[in-house]
Amino acid sequence: MSASEKSTHVASPPIGEDEWPAATQVLIMGGGPVGLSCAILLAQRGIDVLLVERRDFVFRFPRAHLLNPRTMEAFSDMDVAADIYAATPTHDRWRKAVWYTTATGPGRFDGMKIGEVPAWGGGPDAERYRAASPRTFANMPQIRLDPLLYRHALAAAPGRIRKLQEVVSIDQDAEGATVGVLDVESGEARSIRAQYVIAADGGRDSADLLGVELEGPRDMREVVNYHVSLDLSAWSEPDALLGHFLHPAGGARRRGTIQALGPTHYNRNAEEWLVSVAGWMVEGDPDDEAALFESIRRMLGLAADHPITMHSMTRWSYNGLVAEQFRVGRTFLAGDAAHKHPPTGGLGLNSGIQDAQNLCWKLAAVLDGQAPDALLDSYQAERRPIVAWYTAHSLENANRHPPIAAALGFSEDEEAGFRSLETFVSDTPEGAAMRERVAAEVNHNAHDYSQLGVEAGFHYSAGALVPDGTPVPGDPSDPIAFHATSRPGHHLPHVWLDGAKEGDTGRRSSHDLVAREGLTLITSESAAPRWRDAVSLAGGAMPITVAAVADDDVAWREARQIADDGALLVRPDRKVAWRTANLPTDAVCALDDALATILRGGDTPGQDPAEPYLVRIRAAANVLVK
Ligand SMILES: Cc1cc2nc3c(=O)[nH]c(=O)nc-3n(C[C@H](O)[C@H](O)[C@H](O)COP(=O)(O)OP(=O)(O)OC[C@H]3O[C@@H](n4cnc5c(N)ncnc54)[C@H](O)[C@@H]3O)c2cc1C
Repeated sequence: MSASEKSTHVASPPIGEDEWPAATQVLIMGGGPVGLSCAILLAQRGIDVLLVERRDFVFRFPRAHLLNPRTMEAFSDMDVAADIYAATPTHDRWRKAVWYTTATGPGRFDGMKIGEVPAWGGGPDAERYRAASPRTFANMPQIRLDPLLYRHALAAAPGRIRKLQEVVSIDQDAEGATVGVLDVESGEARSIRAQYVIAADGGRDSADLLGVELEGPRDMREVVNYHVSLDLSAWSEPDALLGHFLHPAGGARRRGTIQALGPTHYNRNAEEWLVSVAGWMVEGDPDDEAALFESIRRMLGLAADHPITMHSMTRWSYNGLVAEQFRVGRTFLAGDAAHKHPPTGGLGLNSGIQDAQNLCWKLAAVLDGQAPDALLDSYQAERRPIVAWYTAHSLENANRHPPIAAALGFSEDEEAGFRSLETFVSDTPEGAAMRERVAAEVNHNAHDYSQLGVEAGFHYSAGALVPDGTPVPGDPSDPIAFHATSRPGHHLPHVWLDGAKEGDTGRRSSHDLVAREGLTLITSESAAPRWRDAVSLAGGAMPITVAAVADDDVAWREARQIADDGALLVRPDRKVAWRTANLPTDAVCALDDALATILRGGDTPGQDPAEPYLVRIRAAANVLVK
């Protein structure tokens, strides 16, 4: 199979809506974005799946919306990226986050801009984001993303995406699991046998059913989200997807965010908004719509009769939770079932999709007899430290907002806050110094909105890979800088091949060399015949595609960090599993050794690599303002 070819497997045979299979290869518990992505990825590989969702597939809440480039790479593999890009704003003006006092209002300081940063690969970040991935950020609220994934999952696995079915028990043995499923409407109970189970239930039931502990702080900050229709065209800010609001009134405790939800505009002309306010801002009865609307109007500085139409309201909490185990017997936890982060950083949904991508190629390889079950242990070894890092980073991002209020001189003393704003706008040395301090605190939020090192640079130190002893390039604690490298555990560097430039039609990325199934060995054209011989003689059932790049491809020569006769062995999730700078004397033996390590899931690290991040989670949680 050539690298650019799609998998040759056929999807699971369709079954009627009333038919229930007695057994399936993979049962997926939960039809959120992570479960649906798992269903698509596995069905594409010809794996027999059954997804059960306890609710209907009516998607009510906007929830997460930013899809980072690595996630879009995964969605590209799932053949859903084109649909997402088609529905996402085509211009770049939405790539900005802003801070204001209010959006508008009659007061002297209402509608005043405090600062802004570029976000999600926009403005000055555009070039380095483009250099890191062939895919760009997309913006699609879950209220539209989840139905799109649902449609694709239905097409990939006809009859196998079932609503109103709740998993109530998971009994495991050495060969598989017997899953108890309850029909929510009829009350009918059935048992389904599965070789493996993916718990993608958002953390509702799986931890209890499996006896897994989710460690970390819970319910740290209550947030109320409103999905509303609202005319905000009076706002002076023309182009911002996300606005944060800080105001001295009420003792500096007035704060929240708004996010433009389109569907046709993603700026002040948006028809719909997600308004998010801290729980304490909602006074009175939470079911009293008038009180809820009042809290929105207060935050935005709108008149008491400014029309608002409510579509939905949800209360939720900041958590910083990471499951102690991502694998329990034959069951794997993925997405919010395995980790729950605050939305600051937009990493919750993104990391869930990346869990699915990491897990599903391994499950398919094991179920196809290409790798032993031990490969699946690498899922936890690889993903747990990453999501622990993401959880810590998200909490630290949340803590970057109060210093802006502090630099503005906001405190519990409302009058002092207003006096401080007088200084902020004054043409005095004190005013200039204050504006500088505020700008510095706003700019610290680049750790959130320009976090390419976090989004594109996440890498695995242990797992289904062969470490080569080289140091991690750059400063791994820097969330902003990204260093492309072919070091094992890192993402295959992206360059446009064949001398193509950004914007050329039909251009091919180095990422396009990677086959969706099996491993891909990337080398140069001159060395490819010798590597093909080695691959044909190497043992094992794992298919290996040899992809050759022209020896004189300048961009690739600079990116690959190996010689012409060297090779990179790349996994379907585009992580480099092994590299050799040159063709080894005994290439077959070297390849066999590498394969043995990769397919047994690598070596277990001596100490828990997630521990430093768990410490950071606790430290950040301790100073989080409610
Ligand atoms: C109100 C709210 C607002 C959010 N806002 C943001 C945001 O602004 N930015 C951000 O990055 N993230 C946000 N998130 C988080 C983001 O939505 C999640 O990270 C993402 O949805 C995780 O996807 P998932 O598939 O793992 O879980 P979910 O989307 O929670 O899906 C899990 C599914 O499993 C089903 N299920 C549960 N138990 C069972 C069972 N026993 N049997 C069968 N099915 C079951 C549930 O009904 C649900 O449909 C928000 C979350 C919530 C709840």
